[in-house]
Amino acid sequence: MSLFERFEKSFMPNYGTPPVALARGEGSAVWDVDGKRYLDFIGGIAVSSLGHAHPALVEAVSRQVATLAHTSNLFVHEPEILLAEKLLGLLKDPAKIFLANSGTEANEAAYKLALKYGRREGRRYFVAAENGFHGRTIGALSLTGKKAIRDQFGPFPVEVRFVPYGDAEALREEVTGECVAVFLEPTQGEAGVVPPPDGYFQAVREICDSTGALMVADEIQSAIGRTGHWFAHQADGVVPDILTLAKGLGGGLPIGACVGFGEAGTLFAKGDHGSTFGGNPVSCAAALAVLDNVDLEHVQKVAAQLRTGLEAIEHPLLKGVRGRGLWLAAVLTSDVSAAVQKAAADAGFLLNALQPDAVRLAPPLVVTDSEVQSFVDAFPKILTEATP
Ligand SMILES: *Cc1c(COP(=O)(O)O)cnc(C)c1O
Repeated sequence: MSLFERFEKSFMPNYGTPPVALARGEGSAVWDVDGKRYLDFIGGIAVSSLGHAHPALVEAVSRQVATLAHTSNLFVHEPEILLAEKLLGLLKDPAKIFLANSGTEANEAAYKLALKYGRREGRRYFVAAENGFHGRTIGALSLTGKKAIRDQFGPFPVEVRFVPYGDAEALREEVTGECVAVFLEPTQGEAGVVPPPDGYFQAVREICDSTGALMVADEIQSAIGRTGHWFAHQADGVVPDILTLAKGLGGGLPIGACVGFGEAGTLFAKGDHGSTFGGNPVSCAAALAVLDNVDLEHVQKVAAQLRTGLEAIEHPLLKGVRGRGLWLAAVLTSDVSAAVQKAAADAGFLLNALQPDAVRLAPPLVVTDSEVQSFVDAFPKILTEATP
């Protein structure tokens, strides 16, 4: 029986059956179980920041797992301190951190932090964006603006009002003195790598300031160098009240973080929140290795090369390119992203059919210029193969 058949026999059908079974990786390359090599242009959904089997990550994780793999939160350990100090250094503004294991848990922490603020201030509803994605647990799901994945699991305990993403005036109308918090991605990832218009995040900050609502930036997909900045909001020159991180932070090891700036960092009292695995030493060691080895200048250079290369392609199936840094969507003129993903895999490139008319590119941040070039060179033929 193939791995795919065994997968179907053992697992719930929530993912469908993925089309490729991977066995190993090195740098930006991965090999499937039959030995076919691919260039990985999706990076485990913007997670494998350092690519695969990066020596620094291997060394840090191996050393830590052989030293002390777990403590629980009954004990302090040095890797969590080093990680928190490193993150605070990169964030610059005074803040405090809670460590979780995933993106959705980082957002649960943000949600509970905001609830504490809301209850204290007599505020009663949240605002989030249509098509936004914040995770699959009930709190994060209630903030997720995609009806297909949210509505069947409602009703939710707290009211969430949705506004069109990128529309500052719509946001201004919905956010009042009764709004607890506004949850937004600096660029919408799962919605199709959709950046907002210039000035949107500054307007969000201003609307939150004038109403007292907390501004929560979900940077689970956009941070840790993905856009060419440590955090996407830094490019907008605004500081949120709460920031959530995960995906690229651990470079493949599970870790999430909720950052509270200023007063927001002091809202939890002892006993208000917790996680047995959150901030475990191995994941913290991995995250430190990631933060020590991401090279923003390199990201900016190869990102510009990828974008320019794709934009220069003239093909009837390619409408355009959007996104920031090494986080792009190639937008198609028809709904054939699944065929593009398949043709790319056949040609030895992994990418992701994100929306019916868009494929997502999020290669490791260590992708080389020659690897970028080989993708750019191959893409026109991939598009032709996928043309109906
Ligand atoms: C992936 C993602 C999440 C959820 O993270 P998980 O680790 O899958 O729980 C939340 N928000 C955004 C913006 C994401 O991209």
